[in-house]
Amino acid sequence: MLTYREALVRVLETAAPLPARRVPLDEAAGLVAAADVASPGPVPPFTNSGMDGYAVRAADVAGASAGTPVRLRVTGDLPAGRVAGGAVTPGTAQRIMTGAPIPDGADAVVPVEGTSGDADQVEVRRAVRAGANVRLAGEDLAPGARVVARGAVLRPADIGLLAVAGCATVAVHARPRVAIVTTGDELVDVAEEPGPGRIRDANVHALRAQAAAAGARPAVFPRVPDRREDVTEAIRRAAAEADVVVTTGGISMGEYDRVKDALERLGADRVFWRVAQKPAGPLGLWRLDGRPVVGAPGNPVAAMLVMEEYVRPMLRRMMGHARLFRPEREAALETPWERRTGDDRLHFLRVLAREEGGSLRARLSGTQGSGVVSSLARANALALVPGDVARVPAGGRVLVHLVEEPEDH
Ligand code: AMP
Ligand code: MG
Repeated sequence: MLTYREALVRVLETAAPLPARRVPLDEAAGLVAAADVASPGPVPPFTNSGMDGYAVRAADVAGASAGTPVRLRVTGDLPAGRVAGGAVTPGTAQRIMTGAPIPDGADAVVPVEGTSGDADQVEVRRAVRAGANVRLAGEDLAPGARVVARGAVLRPADIGLLAVAGCATVAVHARPRVAIVTTGDELVDVAEEPGPGRIRDANVHALRAQAAAAGARPAVFPRVPDRREDVTEAIRRAAAEADVVVTTGGISMGEYDRVKDALERLGADRVFWRVAQKPAGPLGLWRLDGRPVVGAPGNPVAAMLVMEEYVRPMLRRMMGHARLFRPEREAALETPWERRTGDDRLHFLRVLAREEGGSLRARLSGTQGSGVVSSLARANALALVPGDVARVPAGGRVLVHLVEEPEDH
């Protein structure tokens, strides 16, 4: 049986960054740039005013002050978007607004606060140096300057920079499509009143939310009963349409566990089945036509753990992220914990972790049964207790995965 770390390596090996795809800028936030982007031209594209005021020749107003204002003739009016008809000649100025191109001849802008004037004439009460309040063409981005680097996660500010550079589309690694196939005769829709012995399909919703939170595109397929033909057909269809298939349920050793059978009938290659861990011991991984198919157990906690610990890093790899894993830190476990004898699996414990006095402390967030969803919902971290650790005394050291923090490695 594989260990968690061995299984994780296998999972990541089945995934590679999806091929670069051009997407409109508005779809690119959060995605990873698949290539360097160079600015096609200068930004700003022309030298323009940084203030509302008057475009002048600095030499003309060199002696200006409140006591000795300089009077200039106003020969133009330049709102943003208008280009001057003529040059600023000695003794003249043009009224100019922020963003309007600096007219020929002018080399500075006197802010409107340093002037008083009307349509024909302005009194300048303030000297300005050449270049004052002038934004030079290309001062933000020179032509050919790097706008974003390959591998960068595109943040809103990067989208803004791409926009000012005039990049309407950008090459990124696309969001993988994740098919979620839940199996189980007992499952009914969340909106239904479950009959005797039936329960609501929680996994389809939880895993869909997790896939979306990871940045992927979840694709929900109709849940399937525990019948070999139905499960086979569902996985076949899902694999045809998605980059990754995640199934839940039907992967253990029970009489009605059809997922393994179905995958074998489809000719999928088994990468592994079963991992020395709890929850989610019966986790399996197959390749079907080159696509990973992750078979997660049906217990919602196990299924969500598989998404968090295995599928999410895989999806991030497909999206071209360099950082695949949540912060892994050492914490003092305040709740003592003991394993049952004869159990030597890695345990993932649902815990609440908090920073205190510069170190991390964690306590169990509730009962740890695989069917107990509330303790997972309350947790913000998973503590890992290796198989050879029989007990953790109060205050004992454990590794924790901070599952609400962004990936840092
Ligand atoms: P299985 O892995 O199919 O043996 O299922 C293990 C447990 O998880 C059983 O108690 C199932 O009823 C439950 N279960 C399976 N699938 C789901 C699901 N989609 N939503 C909620 N519970 C489920
Ligand atoms: Mg089942």
